[in-house]
Amino acid sequence: MIRDINAQVLVIGSGPAGYSSAFRSADLGLQTVLVEKYSSLGGVCLNVGCIPSKLLLHFAKVIKEAKEISKQGVIFGKPKIDFSLIKSHKENIIFNLSSGLQNMMQKRNIDLLQGVGHFVDEKTFLVSNDTEHVNIHFKNIILATGSKPVTLPNMPNSPNIWNSTQALSLNSIPDRLLIVGSGIIGLEMATFYSSIGVKVDVIDRCSRLLPVLDMDVINIFHRSIKQDFNVLLETEICDIVLHNNGVLVTLSNNDKREKVFYNSILIAIGRTSNIHDLGIDTVGIKVDQNNFIIVDNQLRTNVSSIYAIGDVIGEPMLAHKGMHQGHIVAEVIAGYKHYFDPRVIPSVAYTDPEIAWVGINEMEAIKQGIDYEVSIFPWKASGRAIVSNCSNGMTKLIVNKKNNKIIGGVIIGRQAGELISEITLAIEMECDMEDISLTIHAHPTLYETIGLSSQIFQGSITDLI
Ligand code: FAD
Repeated sequence: MIRDINAQVLVIGSGPAGYSSAFRSADLGLQTVLVEKYSSLGGVCLNVGCIPSKLLLHFAKVIKEAKEISKQGVIFGKPKIDFSLIKSHKENIIFNLSSGLQNMMQKRNIDLLQGVGHFVDEKTFLVSNDTEHVNIHFKNIILATGSKPVTLPNMPNSPNIWNSTQALSLNSIPDRLLIVGSGIIGLEMATFYSSIGVKVDVIDRCSRLLPVLDMDVINIFHRSIKQDFNVLLETEICDIVLHNNGVLVTLSNNDKREKVFYNSILIAIGRTSNIHDLGIDTVGIKVDQNNFIIVDNQLRTNVSSIYAIGDVIGEPMLAHKGMHQGHIVAEVIAGYKHYFDPRVIPSVAYTDPEIAWVGINEMEAIKQGIDYEVSIFPWKASGRAIVSNCSNGMTKLIVNKKNNKIIGGVIIGRQAGELISEITLAIEMECDMEDISLTIHAHPTLYETIGLSSQIFQGSITDLI
């Protein structure tokens, strides 16, 4: 069956970027249609990304905390892990959240079409599924088709060679796991698998972990994770031999070669845009050298009625960046003069310890020639961190000396992802250090370390720590 429908706003993809733009468009009174390939709404983030990974990391945190407090008088035994129960719990969470999205779409009268689509011309998008073909005649289209994992060249096909989706599926639990790539996804998966007793090695061809962070943060992180998993830098796979129950890998580190047997390998070396089904060449949408769609600061492509948001336009590939862009793009289409400003986007590695950062770091400040000052509060001086077994942390603020404004911040330690919000707001509102130090922070809390950092900066407690 072929039918034709119209849309003032057509959104392709139901991930955080897509659903946020559809909700805002509908709320602004624009008649909205959303197309999604899969029956479960929510994209990578909800189905095979943020949410399932954070569930597993929650388990990892509880297992570790139980171990730690056992040394302090509250004794727990070795955890028994029921993977089938974990899997059904995970599936329930995804189902409930995805159904919630579906309800919110219905309430807003957003037309939802399941299927894969491509451009017919600059004003028509054809969506097909098992039962019908639908020509959608749109006024504006928002491409929010997200990203997918990339793999290493010449990687053989094997159930023991995983991407992040397979790592989250828990279909088999290896004794030994090799993770290729020490980015956030690789390190988060190392945190989970090591917590359940898997022997994990992480390799990366880079000479340092997380190059977006200053070395003082990395040093704390390195010291903390040593007990959980190995990180081998400047190391690559140079040969792979498949076996029934795993993979024999030859690792190369400069001139050294070593053969190691792993039951599974997770390739976590990055993600690429989902543009191949869309037929973007038909309408001449421009992409960069890495195949991410090029947009201006109003998220418009080189074709005036076509917009793109989220992972499909490249880094940072974060759900909250996509959601924010979803709101902006809907407002632009509705006629508001809004722009996307990438200056203050927090990033979080939900590892143990957690790391969260926002604004610029010291390396960037030096690069930009900013005369800056740093203020650090070590968590070993925080009563709350000590009683909570998380004193291996640090709160660091970076301040522009010219005007005392906060331009960056990083927190390493438990709940860093929650705590970073104060620094994010401070940078967004262009606060200076005095604003922070005049704000009363509750005691004893972990977020108090932000207030204490600002007081160190003002010289009031320097001698005490
Ligand atoms: P996606 O979520 O990828 O959604 C795109 C949607 O478009 C998909 O549902 C897809 O099926 C659909 N689609 C694609 N092509 C078509 C087509 N032709 N027709 C119809 N539909 C189509 N980010 C964070 O901020 N915090 C985290 O903690 C975090 N953890 C992560 C953990 C893992 C393991 C992974 C893999 C990612 C994680 N991310 C995290 C990244 C986050 O998931 C992405 O940044 C986010 O999902 C991007 O949203 P999006 O809407 O741009 O695209």
